[in-house]
Amino acid sequence: MTEIRCTNCRRSYPEQGVPHRCPACGGLFDFAEMPAFDPAQVEKNQPGLWRYRHALGLPADAPQITLGEGNTPLVWRNVFGREVAFKLEFLNPTGSYKDRGAATLISFLHWRGVQAAVEDSSGNAGAAFAAYAAVAGIRAKVFAPDATSAPKRSQIQAYGAEVVRILGPRSNAAQAVLRAVEQGAVYASHAYLPYVLPGYATLAYELVEQLGAAPGAVILPVGQGNLLLSLGRGFESLLRSQQIQRLPRLVGVQAMACAPLWALYRYGAAGLGWVTESETLAEGVRVRQPVRGDAVMQMIAGQQGVLTAVEEADILPGREQLARLGFYVEPTSAIVWNALEQLAEQLPQPIVVVLTGSGLKAPA
Ligand SMILES: [Zn+2]
Repeated sequence: MTEIRCTNCRRSYPEQGVPHRCPACGGLFDFAEMPAFDPAQVEKNQPGLWRYRHALGLPADAPQITLGEGNTPLVWRNVFGREVAFKLEFLNPTGSYKDRGAATLISFLHWRGVQAAVEDSSGNAGAAFAAYAAVAGIRAKVFAPDATSAPKRSQIQAYGAEVVRILGPRSNAAQAVLRAVEQGAVYASHAYLPYVLPGYATLAYELVEQLGAAPGAVILPVGQGNLLLSLGRGFESLLRSQQIQRLPRLVGVQAMACAPLWALYRYGAAGLGWVTESETLAEGVRVRQPVRGDAVMQMIAGQQGVLTAVEEADILPGREQLARLGFYVEPTSAIVWNALEQLAEQLPQPIVVVLTGSGLKAPA
């Protein structure tokens, strides 16, 4: 099993329990080194992301908690004068890319003997958590902001999870879950627990398999930024194992209403002063304080990445344009369209756009 350490005091992840932060210093846990991708160890007869089991960072005897996630289609369209590849992550089992991380995280929790767990989510992560918890027989409770779209809430409940509605901004749900954790609940956090990261990284392995080479650029929404971070690490691993010859440029997209990483990128620390947590249609990327913000910014800097932010008024038109191409995605997912429009001409080809969440979760 690949080693996980506290990024602050370097202590190893405890042998027992599932702390979401370092019990000694409160620091964040992360892989000391991401599990390496080895082409010789790809198990071609396994479904979806389980082909990359060797790179998932799970103990050898951890169970495979799966709903067939991964192996999503890559579909080409000509837009803005360019051939662009759309990665249909909204076709994952619960309707978002979060299933990749939930599969690996819940497999780990099950291996640790967890029987009940809590999570906070604006929707997609909660649905993924609830579904995989149901598969693993883990009792699930999700703290969700009151503004979470009704279909997302129904979906979480349908999997058998209890939904606790929390008034106010997204960060209130995060605080509510921490109170439950203080009282002893296991926090199956998709933001804090590093076990989700190798699951997300499989997106990089799949893209390179599907394209036969590295993308020139990858455009994706950024809230916590864990998908961008994991994609970057996945591509680095592919470069080290000589499966690709160059790193793609990562283009992270935030909603202007809540764009802390974009503000840092654009204005430095001074930009943080005026970051808001305003209402936005892009509820899935409304994250005021990304847990791994430092690591995300380092990844952006190291891979010639770009961060951009989309005005609220541009979100629904983007969703309509994507739908006219046949892609029905939720508003959070649709923020990539505006970024593509701004940057299509200058980005290296081939450009990949990750479509993260299903439109059925947030009907117009
Ligand atoms: Zn520590």
